[in-house]
Amino acid sequence: MTTVLVVGAGQSGFQAVASLRDRGFEGRVVLVGDEPGVPYQRPPLSKAYLAGTAGLEQLHLRGEDFFAEKDIELVAGRVASIDREASLVRLEDGTELDYDHLVLATGARNRTLPVPGADLPGVLTLRTRDDADRLRASLADAGNVVVVGGGFIGLEFASHAGRPVTIVEAQDRLLNRVATPEISAYFAALHREAGHTVLLGQGVSALHGDSRVREVELSDGSRLPADLVVIAVGVVPETTLAAAAGLAVDNGVVVDEHLRTADEKIFAIGDCANFPCVQAGAATRLESVQNAVDQARCVAAAITGAPEPYASLPWFWTDQSGAKLQIAGILAGADRTVVAGDQAAGKFSVLSFRDDVLIAVESVNRPADHIAARRLFTADPHPRYADLAASEFNLKEHLK
Ligand code: FAD
Repeated sequence: MTTVLVVGAGQSGFQAVASLRDRGFEGRVVLVGDEPGVPYQRPPLSKAYLAGTAGLEQLHLRGEDFFAEKDIELVAGRVASIDREASLVRLEDGTELDYDHLVLATGARNRTLPVPGADLPGVLTLRTRDDADRLRASLADAGNVVVVGGGFIGLEFASHAGRPVTIVEAQDRLLNRVATPEISAYFAALHREAGHTVLLGQGVSALHGDSRVREVELSDGSRLPADLVVIAVGVVPETTLAAAAGLAVDNGVVVDEHLRTADEKIFAIGDCANFPCVQAGAATRLESVQNAVDQARCVAAAITGAPEPYASLPWFWTDQSGAKLQIAGILAGADRTVVAGDQAAGKFSVLSFRDDVLIAVESVNRPADHIAARRLFTADPHPRYADLAASEFNLKEHLK
């Protein structure tokens, strides 16, 4: 019997095993994960779960009965190594599990802040359910809260923490890596209106304290009082296993357009995979639910004999200080932007172009624009500036 072994029981690992069964795969399916309990989704950890408006069961991707019904073996443990010659993996407890196809879905881990005091009690991060539980408990009795990092996770944490916080960002704008300046400026204003302090162009040089953190020292030498510091400075892909097994690693496990490594038995998907992205025209690693889910489906199709090169449109969403931002496409290399809609009313979209071709649409509180953008990119991967200008950058009109 053919065995598919998936390492990492997060968003993409779960989807891979579910899609294999959806496609009628009748072999053995094993999902190994090192976090406790059934697989769960991460987005609510910095939103409703953090705010206390969603419970544990709303995090779960499926209940235990699903895995029994679908005959998916859930193995609790951490994979320590891959033996490619013998086609098996070894868990830390010595258990060996063999495979015909191996899917690496090991995700990413939080980047640490390389400054003195970063290991003081009261300095926390957010990636797992355990992290979110710790943060919720700490928020209950923290006076001054400082968030280091103005990316998606830091800003969502600030938005759902239920109190004003100070956000410290080293770059000169929020969401620097992932959004246009128009969107960065809008969200900086929104977070300030919501009562947060936003400090831009300020690095953190040290954290000070005694039995716990007390102050954050900024690059200009000033100090902020802090009882809770949340480090949200991005992630690094979890590639330890792949590298030790001699697979190519370069900002993620390197895979081809079928998400396969140079070893034809081994795939990599989700946050840990560096793949040739059609839309970016370059090797890319994405951190999103869409990417995790669609790459898992792509690999399940390849394993069940229907391989298609991976070409799904990247899209993303985030909820911050009462606004919903949705992004379709990839911003890399944008050289022209157009704002459509009513920015003052907080309902608008930013259209980004590269060489007069539309490459991304960021929509703030305009879900219809987001859906239209996704349809547009699917119907025509290269919509042109002149054609969109003719419909006054109204995406829905343009689709008609
Ligand atoms: P993960 O879901 O991280 O799963 C990887 C799993 O592998 C983990 O459980 C890990 O412990 C396990 N693992 C690693 N190594 C081993 C090993 N050796 N043995 C066994 N198990 C191992 N995306 C969006 O699109 N929208 C959002 O709003 C959004 N919000 C987010 C909020 C938070 C707080 C976080 C952390 C992420 C958010 N994301 C969001 C990103 C999204 O959750 C990730 O892109 C997605 O989870 C990636 O799925 P994955 O399967 O690649 O990795």
